[in-house]
Amino acid sequence: MGSAVLGTAAVVTASPESQQGRQTVGHDRSGSNPIGPDDPVLHAENPDSVNPPSTDRGDVNPFKYPFSLAHKRIEKGGWARQVTARDLPVSTTIAGVNMRLTAGGIRELHWHRAGEWSLMLDGSARITCLDPHGKPFVDDVKEGDLWFFPTGLPHSIQGLEPDGCEFLLVFDDGAFSEYDTVLLADWTAHTPPSVLARNLGVSGAALSRIPPGELYIFQAEVPKTSLDQDRKAAAGTISLSSENFVFRLMEMPPTRKTKAGEARIVDSSVFKVSSQIAAAHVIVHPGGMREMHWHPNADEWQYYVTGKGRMTVFASGGKARTMDFQKGDVGYVQQTLPHYIENTGNEDLIFLEIFKSSTYQDVSLNEWLTHLPPALVQAHLNLDIATLRAIPHAEEVVVPA
Ligand code: MN
Ligand code: MN
Repeated sequence: MGSAVLGTAAVVTASPESQQGRQTVGHDRSGSNPIGPDDPVLHAENPDSVNPPSTDRGDVNPFKYPFSLAHKRIEKGGWARQVTARDLPVSTTIAGVNMRLTAGGIRELHWHRAGEWSLMLDGSARITCLDPHGKPFVDDVKEGDLWFFPTGLPHSIQGLEPDGCEFLLVFDDGAFSEYDTVLLADWTAHTPPSVLARNLGVSGAALSRIPPGELYIFQAEVPKTSLDQDRKAAAGTISLSSENFVFRLMEMPPTRKTKAGEARIVDSSVFKVSSQIAAAHVIVHPGGMREMHWHPNADEWQYYVTGKGRMTVFASGGKARTMDFQKGDVGYVQQTLPHYIENTGNEDLIFLEIFKSSTYQDVSLNEWLTHLPPALVQAHLNLDIATLRAIPHAEEVVVPA
């Protein structure tokens, strides 16, 4: 670990509060604001846009959008808000939804073209899905659990007691809209009653009370039946699905852990049904940094769960930009662009890295540089051999201050 500290000292520049490396230092008035901040709250939340590091340069596509700016669609039983490529144009591969369901609140039975990955942020829910073989799946999920529903498979989510839940949904299509999914009651409302009666093999009179349109999110009774009873009732005379659509993410030991933080990587190698989305859940302790790296196989969509951080993306051609992030923000990094994320707060920074891929892949700058002919690296960066040897030889994911 001693050599790790030496090696990373070279790449971690300034402490978060320090003005070192900023464009305005001392008596230089070049970056000052004679009429004061135009929006004091936004300035305070975005110090790296107001006063960028001197290494930032050029016009880099914005890569941040806060869920706080998204329209909240409130229904009886909960709400939803989304950040898609319409809000954040760079985010072409992934769209995200933040949803709340009250106890008993139901996200209507539905399905869609996009694959759905989700992390439960608070509370608990009962979810259902039908597998590709027609076998039912029913399970309860709590904070720290995630699920994946593949393209086209019908599913539902219902908040449980005491206070329902709040969760994040991630779709493998930036153009996805949560308000344009195939909904059960929307379909039945747009089917002639005689056809519906014939198809279901029941009388038209028995169908007189079906809803006139979509339910989307609606308030219902909290399930009075246990998970076991619901599973038995759903299975009837066939067996339950042998697929597991749920993964207990926070019960898994960290994939990587250092004194500066930890990361849990979940892709189809550990969570078989998640064939369309790979993810990393990253915790960076105060002063720590998600190391300099890039992803060769996919764009990265981020959700900031808690804490404060800043991310710098190097966009090639002499362009780089730093943006600040906090709880509820979405971030995005295009495939192959190098980046790093510093914890700029006094508490843990927790965020998700999400990829439209069945496998998680990254390249660590440290690991790459230490696995090349040393003279080749020295010729590029003018490093002496002792410095080169001090660089950590293995990817750490999160490096110390
Ligand atoms: Mn869905
Ligand atoms: Mn990354």
